[in-house]
Amino acid sequence: MIFELLWRDYFRFMMKKHRNKFFLQTGIKDSSQPINKHDAKKLKTWIDGKTGSDFVDANMIELKLTGFMSNRGRQNVASYLCNDLKIDWRYGAAYFEQQLIDYDVCSNWGNWAYLAGVGNDPRGQRYFNIDKQADDYDKDRSYRKLWLNQVDI
Ligand SMILES: Cc1cc2nc3c(=O)[nH]c(=O)nc-3n(C[C@H](O)[C@H](O)[C@H](O)COP(=O)(O)OP(=O)(O)OC[C@H]3O[C@@H](n4cnc5c(N)ncnc54)[C@H](O)[C@@H]3O)c2cc1C
Repeated sequence: MIFELLWRDYFRFMMKKHRNKFFLQTGIKDSSQPINKHDAKKLKTWIDGKTGSDFVDANMIELKLTGFMSNRGRQNVASYLCNDLKIDWRYGAAYFEQQLIDYDVCSNWGNWAYLAGVGNDPRGQRYFNIDKQADDYDKDRSYRKLWLNQVDI
């Protein structure tokens, strides 16, 4: 618990230090994540939970319907947007800003920049193996079944 709260403080101090840089595509680094030409349709599949990656989709549906997503889910869907869809990470951060009931400017933009490889991570881009994560954290598929079976949104 204390460790997790330290993250929260850390992002707050980082925002105080770097200010508006956290809203640039390059974040607090000099280089940006590799991105493709912007594709609004792909972004919409991510938002609507229709990417075809069931763990990502279940999390995005939960976010859309409830305004909440677990930390594990947030990391996976952010990695998917940045590394698989190669969409500018700021679209993801802006959508979270719109949806999250626990939205916090420092934690949201700081975590997104971190996952996009333009924040406070010495290891660079965080690439999540989504299938492995789904297997590790939702082995019996009950989480995915719950959200993927919601009425069409
Ligand atoms: C892409 C992304 C965006 C996020 N956006 C937000 C946001 O807008 N608002 C927000 O409050 N949190 C954000 N988080 C952090 C984290 O996901 C949530 O705080 C967490 O889901 C809350 O669940 P919990 O209370 O069960 O946390 P626990 O894991 O039980 O942790 C206890 C407390 O520590 C803090 N905490 C834990 N992990 C983090 C973290 N990575 N960064 C900052 N604080 C943390 C929270 O206050 C949390 O309530 C984001 C994480 C990611 C990966």
